[in-house]
Amino acid sequence: MKSSKFKVPQGKKVKLSDYRTDDTGDIESKKDASKLLKANTKKMAELQDRLYAHDRYGLLMVFQAMDAAGKDSTIKHVMSGLNPQGTQVFSFKQPSAEELDHGYLWRIAKAVPERGRIGIFNRSHYEDVLVVRVHDLVKFQKIPDKFDNDGIWKERFNQIKNFETYLYENGIITIKFFLHISKDEQRKRFLRRLDIPSKNWKFSEADLKEREHWEDYQKCYEEAISATSTDYAPWYIIPADKKWFARVVVSNVIIDTLQSLKLMYPELDGNQKRNIHAYREQLMKE
Ligand code: ATP
Ligand code: MG
Repeated sequence: MKSSKFKVPQGKKVKLSDYRTDDTGDIESKKDASKLLKANTKKMAELQDRLYAHDRYGLLMVFQAMDAAGKDSTIKHVMSGLNPQGTQVFSFKQPSAEELDHGYLWRIAKAVPERGRIGIFNRSHYEDVLVVRVHDLVKFQKIPDKFDNDGIWKERFNQIKNFETYLYENGIITIKFFLHISKDEQRKRFLRRLDIPSKNWKFSEADLKEREHWEDYQKCYEEAISATSTDYAPWYIIPADKKWFARVVVSNVIIDTLQSLKLMYPELDGNQKRNIHAYREQLMKE
């Protein structure tokens, strides 16, 4: 399955209701999906090794979604085969007082992965054009009055695009995943959290409140995705009603992205290369 099928082309105006949440492509069962994921995990580990050795690029993966869409478990599964030394995960919550004293990209910039590494954002700078927009939180962000107006979202989209361009031109590749679930699937998952004792802790009343803003969120996602999906930092809309399918698609995207970088192991310099034989001899003699 081609991962480009789920990529939002630059300039496309996205309407989320046109995107299926329950697509499972050409994968017939959960079992088949887990086989594919296993094979993909192996490929990712190999590519990660090259990314590290090549040391010119870093990969930043942004995960955004409505509550219970499966960000945590997708991250857990997809990353399970990678070398923990080369990965880092950051979860962005409500900003602290210190963070609110800076521009919204400050905490983000600090968490961007270095070259050779894979970084994951569980929520991200996109919260500043999503939750902040839905709940009118700009007033807490201490923006000078003259910039706090209706045009602020368009300006933020531009700021985000500029930021991601800057990352791209410095070797940090950003890919962004929107895990797309239906409102009904969210309902089912919330109910499961209430029904199964070991899942109770995952339920939060706040999530139920956020659900009331479902339509607002969908709209803000549509605008944000339409405005910020670019050739160099694309959005992928991942059908996520079936978690097993979402995981395979995400891993496909990661593999295709890393493969497109043509990562190479560094070559030994001429002198060392000529001496390989001698080095070996020396060790064999011990
Ligand atoms: P989970 O519930 O699965 O543990 P989560 O990402 O929902 O994961 P929570 O601690 O429940 O984690 O929620 C974090 C909250 O912080 C979210 O409601 C999110 O919208 C909010 N948040 C993140 N970034 C910002 C921001 N820049 N401004 C305001 N709120 C933010
Ligand atoms: Mg939550």
